[in-house]
Amino acid sequence: MPPTTYTDLLADVKKKTKQVSLDEIKRRLEAHEKFTLVDVREKDEVRAGYIPGAVSIPRGFLEIQAEQKLPDKNARIVAYCAGGTRSALAAATLQELGYTNVETANPGFVRWKDLNFPIEMPAQLTEAQRDRYSRHILLPEVGEQGQARLLQSKVLLLGAGGLGSPAALYLAAAGVGTLGVVDADVVDASNLQRQIIHATSRVGTSKVDSAAKAISELNPDVKVVPYKERMNSGNVERLFQDYEVIVDGTDNFPTRYLVNDASVFMGKPVVHGSIFRFDGQVTTFIPEKAAKKLGVPASPCYRCLYPEPPPPHLAPSCQEAGVLGILCGIIGTLQATEAIKILLGKGTTLAGRLMTYDSLKIKFRELKLRLDPRCPVDGTKPTITNYIDYEGFCAVG
Ligand SMILES: [Zn+2]
Repeated sequence: MPPTTYTDLLADVKKKTKQVSLDEIKRRLEAHEKFTLVDVREKDEVRAGYIPGAVSIPRGFLEIQAEQKLPDKNARIVAYCAGGTRSALAAATLQELGYTNVETANPGFVRWKDLNFPIEMPAQLTEAQRDRYSRHILLPEVGEQGQARLLQSKVLLLGAGGLGSPAALYLAAAGVGTLGVVDADVVDASNLQRQIIHATSRVGTSKVDSAAKAISELNPDVKVVPYKERMNSGNVERLFQDYEVIVDGTDNFPTRYLVNDASVFMGKPVVHGSIFRFDGQVTTFIPEKAAKKLGVPASPCYRCLYPEPPPPHLAPSCQEAGVLGILCGIIGTLQATEAIKILLGKGTTLAGRLMTYDSLKIKFRELKLRLDPRCPVDGTKPTITNYIDYEGFCAVG
C-alpha cells in the first residue's frame, strides 16, 4: 500500500535509501574517494557554508538540474541537507530519475558544523571580479569556485628577477590573492632585458617595491607582501609559514638546499625553475606532508637527486653567465602554471618529472626523478634535521 501521511512517506523513503554517517563522509573526503556530494539545501543556507566539494542543487530544482549537474547516472552520490529529511526525499527522487548509487547523509550539515568538520564558503565574487576573470570562470576546471579559491590563496615568490617577474605577473593577473615576494636587491638597468615586472622608471628602487607597483597596477585584487631580505636558516620558516605554494626563482646552491629542506620539514610544495644561457629546467617538489593534503603522490626532493652541494673547488663559477631574456618568460610562466594547478587541485604537475627546455632548438625533454630511500632529508633514516647555511663554496671564477 502506498504511504498516505508524511510520516509514513518519510519512513518508507528512509527504509529504501542507504544512509551514511558524517564520520564516513569525512573519511571518504580525506581518502579522496570518488563520489559526488549533493547539497540539496536552499541557496541562502549554502551561503553560510557547505561540505567541501559539494554540488549545490536545491531540493526544488532537483528534477530540473540533475541531468546537467549530475551527468553520470551510475556515479556514487551522497545527498545531504541540514538535518537528513530533505536529503532522504531527494535521494528517493534521484533514484526515481534513474540514479543507481545514491546514499543520504545522516544527519546533515548542522551536525557537521557542530562537529567542527571542514566546511567551505561559497564563491562570493563581485560583479567586477566576475567580469575580470570571466575567461577563467568559463573553464569548468576553474569556475567561480576555483576563481574564489585563487583569490583566497597565497603564493610565495623567491626572487623578483628573471623567473619571478613573469611568474608574479601571471599569478597576479590570474587573481592569486596574496603574493609574497622575497628579494633584497635593487632594480638595475641590466635587469630589464628579462625581468619584465620592473621598468626603466624604477631603476634604483628596491625590486620588491617595484614588483608591488607593477602588480597593483595590473590587478588591485592582489595583496603583495614584500620581504626586503635575503633568505637564510634564520628566516626561512617565517617566510614560508603563511604560504601554500613556493615558487623558487633563485638560482644558487645555498638557497636551493635551504628551500628544499624547509619544503620537506614544513610540507610546502615548491615549484623549482632554473635557467642557464639558452636552457631552462622546471620541476615541482611535493613533499610527503603536502602530498597527503593534496591527495597526490609525494615526489622526490632535491636532495634525492643531489644529496649535498659540491665541494668549493668543484662548484661552478659564480661569475654571471649570459641568458636569453625570453627563456625566463618560458620557464617562469611554466612555474606559474604549476602553482595554479596545485592551488586548483587540477591537472598533473611536474612532480617526479624534470622538464628541460632548449631555446635554440625549441625542444622540451622530460626526465623521470626517483625518490631515494637513502636521501639525507626525506629518506628512511634522515641525517639532516636542521637548516644548514652553505656558504663560500663558489669557485673563484
Ligand atoms: Zn629526498
